[in-house]
Amino acid sequence: AGRLADRVCVITGAASGIGRATAERFLWEGAHVIAADLDEERLATLEGVVPVVGDVSREEDARRMIATAVDRFGWLDVLVANAGVIPLLSVTEAEGRDFDRVMAVDGRGMFLTCKYAIEAMLVSGGGSIVCTSSISGVAGQARQAVYGPAKFVATGLTKHLAVEWAEHGIRVNAVAPGTIETERVVAARVEPGGPEYLEEVLRAHPMGRFGSPEEVAAAILFLASDEASFVTGAILPVDGGYLAR
Ligand code: NAD
Repeated sequence: AGRLADRVCVITGAASGIGRATAERFLWEGAHVIAADLDEERLATLEGVVPVVGDVSREEDARRMIATAVDRFGWLDVLVANAGVIPLLSVTEAEGRDFDRVMAVDGRGMFLTCKYAIEAMLVSGGGSIVCTSSISGVAGQARQAVYGPAKFVATGLTKHLAVEWAEHGIRVNAVAPGTIETERVVAARVEPGGPEYLEEVLRAHPMGRFGSPEEVAAAILFLASDEASFVTGAILPVDGGYLAR
């Protein structure tokens, strides 16, 4: 049997990148996967999941993502709160609405999905939540004054929720990925100033390469599974040594 055999798991932002790799790994490990995303078309290309189209920043949609798991399978074991937008804007380029949007999705959306997941997990007697934070949710970086603070919400929520719900059998952890080779990173190679920026970011990763979505999915799997049964409130770097500097 797989490491998540028959576990009921909601993954947000599951249509692409880290969320998609996580959904595929969880399926392989025997989980029932409820895959939530805004992008209906890409979500439809993910086989073997229960798809839910919705926006995590909208209260009703976040509630529905969790309710789908409970209605369909009876309970919820795991939430991977991963949906996010990643604007790489310097504070001088950004406007208030850029900050509001990233806070709505990466901040409020994570809050709402965690809230409804915890309510469901309390009914079934426990569970495990894994939030996708970032190295930008732990340390400072250039061009991240919009995105970075939203990722600090992820690490903050992780710690506060972990402490409050530990005695109810709910573990809450986060991964802090370094730069991961998703389509966005690949696209940045041909943007103006992109290659120089990526070169600089690469130098900050001691392993001298970017990570893959599958490498982040493996860390999420560990935290979600029973193998991490005494791990809560942890922020696990998956960053080729970035945060160790
Ligand atoms: P991605 O763009 O490939 O995937 C993000 C997914 O989230 C997309 O499918 C998108 O449609 C979905 N999404 C966006 N807004 C949504 C909303 N409001 N409601 C529901 N779904 C929504 O990006 P990714 O790189 O896989 O990022 C996933 C997570 O990993 C994000 O939280 C991001 O901050 C974090 N992260 C990424 C990196 C990286 O280098 N790629 C590094 C550290 C952390």
